[in-house]
Amino acid sequence: MATLGRWLHQAWHPLPIRVRGAVIIAIPVTCLFTTLSAFAWLKASLAEAETWIQHTQTVRLETKQLVKALVDAETGVRGYGLTQREAFLEPYQGAQVEILSSLNRLETLVEDNPPQVQRVQDIRRLANENLAIFQQKLSLKRQLPPTAQGEGTPLVAAADLYDWLEEGKETMDAARFAIDRFTAVEEALLAQRIRHRDRYQQMAWLALCLLALISTLATLFAIRLFYQLERELAHREAHLKTANQRLENACHQLQRFTANASHELRAPLAAVLSNAQVGLMALDQGETDDPDPYPIAPTSPIRPRLENIVNLTKRMSTLVGELLFLARHEGLLAPENLQTVDLTALLGQWGADWQGDAATHQLTCALDLPAVPVVVQADPSLLCQALANLFSNACRYTPAGGHIHLRLYSDRDRAVVAVQDTGIGIPPAALPLVFERFYRVDTKRSKTTGGLGLGLAISQQIVQAHRGQVTVTSTLGQGSTFTLALPLASDPFREGQGV
Ligand code: ADP
Repeated sequence: MATLGRWLHQAWHPLPIRVRGAVIIAIPVTCLFTTLSAFAWLKASLAEAETWIQHTQTVRLETKQLVKALVDAETGVRGYGLTQREAFLEPYQGAQVEILSSLNRLETLVEDNPPQVQRVQDIRRLANENLAIFQQKLSLKRQLPPTAQGEGTPLVAAADLYDWLEEGKETMDAARFAIDRFTAVEEALLAQRIRHRDRYQQMAWLALCLLALISTLATLFAIRLFYQLERELAHREAHLKTANQRLENACHQLQRFTANASHELRAPLAAVLSNAQVGLMALDQGETDDPDPYPIAPTSPIRPRLENIVNLTKRMSTLVGELLFLARHEGLLAPENLQTVDLTALLGQWGADWQGDAATHQLTCALDLPAVPVVVQADPSLLCQALANLFSNACRYTPAGGHIHLRLYSDRDRAVVAVQDTGIGIPPAALPLVFERFYRVDTKRSKTTGGLGLGLAISQQIVQAHRGQVTVTSTLGQGSTFTLALPLASDPFREGQGV
């Protein structure tokens, strides 16, 4: 028993939670269905046994009616023989019809039992013989003249009467005997069927009690398994919470480290940049003013080196600034940092500047704004930063002569801003990756645009902090559409409160 328990324990625990849950539910459900099916089957069997008992009792009744009809026929003929009164023939005539229909009914009732059918046919033969003898006796009697007509005188001589009455007795006895045999078989059948029904009844009770016991035990077992599973789930949940807490701590540490490192890097970078810029200015002055005791020739290799330092330091400052931004703006924005912002007004205000930027890249830009305010809860400067990144990408990745289309509209419960360009597009394989940090579709194209691979990551982080979503669709060589969707503000926009 202990080995079985251990084996069950070993087989049960590695199963997935879903499978174990399904098994726990299946145990009582199966028990219920088995009990109901067994109950239905036993009830049907009992009803069938009862029907057979009723059937046998109907056969018995029918047999009694047949005997009665035969006796009526015999009595009627005897009465007529003794009195020659037609009134005695009435039951005889009724019995004639009754005997035939009773025999037919009996034959139909026992048609599934060939030996009994054979017995009914024997009875029919004997009954017909009896009826023929009765008929014959009656016709003879009608032909005989009465011996005397006066009152008190017997109609038939005593010896004649005795012979007359004895005639056909043998056939009648044979018919009675055949009916008795038939009845005995039916009685035996009835007893057997009653026994059968009683056995079924006992079995039904026994089976129901057993099933009830098994179901109760199985349900108790399922409850035990359920509590075990619940305990295990609670244990796992606690474990997950601890692991989650540890991960969150690690994330916060990493975030703090990135923020601190970026912050610490800013000052030396600024120093390097300003020193390089001062060096360049000194060089410029050296070219115009005179003369230095140790003049640096304009062709000196120091100039390109200083210019390189300035460019690289600027790039590093941007990178550090963006990393700091990402580290500082992790997670959802606190409600106190959100304002009611009318995007129609905001884009109207910034759109003109962006159109100017597009013109410097030799691009045309169309601004498509609705006539009504589209209001969201947002941090306007962050939102501008996200949109500016999308717009700047559209400018950088669209060749001169291209077109940018900026659209704002509301779609059900969302405000949508779409930035569509006719630029170089993004290959399908790169589409799911463009929002990852430091991802660039190919370094060759980013080299010319000077991208670091953080712009879209910043835009996505800002939009997600507003409970929104950024998506992209693009066709290589034809252009891209970046769509930014934010939940519409539930409060109606109050004029003067927005940006
Ligand atoms: P980067 O600063 O390199 O542009 P982003 O995060 O802004 O970094 O963009 C990631 C990559 O997605 C880019 O390297 C660029 O190849 C691609 N990309 C972004 N916007 C567009 C656009 N409008 N058209 C084509 N490619 C784009």
